[in-house]
Amino acid sequence: ESKQEKTPLAIHLCAPRGFCAGVDRAIQIVELALEKYGSPVYVRHEIVHNKFVVDGLKAKGAVFVEELEEIPAGHTDRPVIFSAHGVPKSVPEDAQSRKMFYLDATCPLVSKVHKEAEIHFRRDREILLIGHAGHPEVIGTMGQLPEGTVSLIETEDGARAFTPKTDRPLAYITQTTLSVDDTAGIVAVLQDRFPQIVAPHKEDICYATTNRQEAVKHVAPKVDAMIVVGAPNSSNSQRLREVAERAGCRTAVLIQRASDIDWHDFEGITSLGLTAGASAPETLVEEIIAAFAGRFDVNVETVRTAEETISFNLPRELREMIASSQ
Ligand code: SF4
Repeated sequence: ESKQEKTPLAIHLCAPRGFCAGVDRAIQIVELALEKYGSPVYVRHEIVHNKFVVDGLKAKGAVFVEELEEIPAGHTDRPVIFSAHGVPKSVPEDAQSRKMFYLDATCPLVSKVHKEAEIHFRRDREILLIGHAGHPEVIGTMGQLPEGTVSLIETEDGARAFTPKTDRPLAYITQTTLSVDDTAGIVAVLQDRFPQIVAPHKEDICYATTNRQEAVKHVAPKVDAMIVVGAPNSSNSQRLREVAERAGCRTAVLIQRASDIDWHDFEGITSLGLTAGASAPETLVEEIIAAFAGRFDVNVETVRTAEETISFNLPRELREMIASSQ
């Protein structure tokens, strides 16, 4: 047997993986705004949580800021785009008072949760949000209502410890990118303690999150290792790594690029599961397959557990761009 011969590696490629409709729309909004208005176009927060995407848009003339006040005084006539994660109400209000022109790339499925929060508030309900503290989506959702109105629940223990602030009926909403299983556990605790608590009509965890986790659950128990392509600050990518680990995968890692691969992790494996978070472009998945192909004799097989056909409309101001480019 020749020493040059590579060991076979079966790569199980999860499907669906990678870009969801909300990420796709958000990136398109920045690209079309650059085309229509020229550069610079400002973007408040990473448009989606992926450095590769952000760097690509920077190269085309997008300028990323964390807050509106970072936009230089002479540039307040430039368009500003709000990221897919959504923003507190104070942000568009602030933009309006500065007479800025803004485009909202908030995913429509996040906006749906914002609306639920408002409806509960109008119906005089006390609102709980299941989510992760500090994530921009959580900051945006809590910021739809006056400060102190929404209580954040992060864990089952948090659900056990929660004391209502009022005697109003309770209702809960959730972040869109949570672990389906963890959330079910938290909801069970809440429903057990507060049987009357009002639940969302249709789950707030989005279709993309659910489908990507489902595919990982299917693949992870069958493979020696699992790679999730995504950024460390991407909530849905982090959850995919956890799902793989819990499904019994010994090695489950989250990596951004092929250059991040620690080859020690993959010594002696014969099968690998591969997926990507909702903000990770397919080209990064291809890059990782290519890196493995350099060391193993790879055979790639797609494991599809759901079909996705959903897509979202662009903001009115940019729709004409699509029509004219076709
Ligand atoms: Fe929208 Fe879900 Fe994608 Fe977030 S992960 S942008 S909620 S579709």
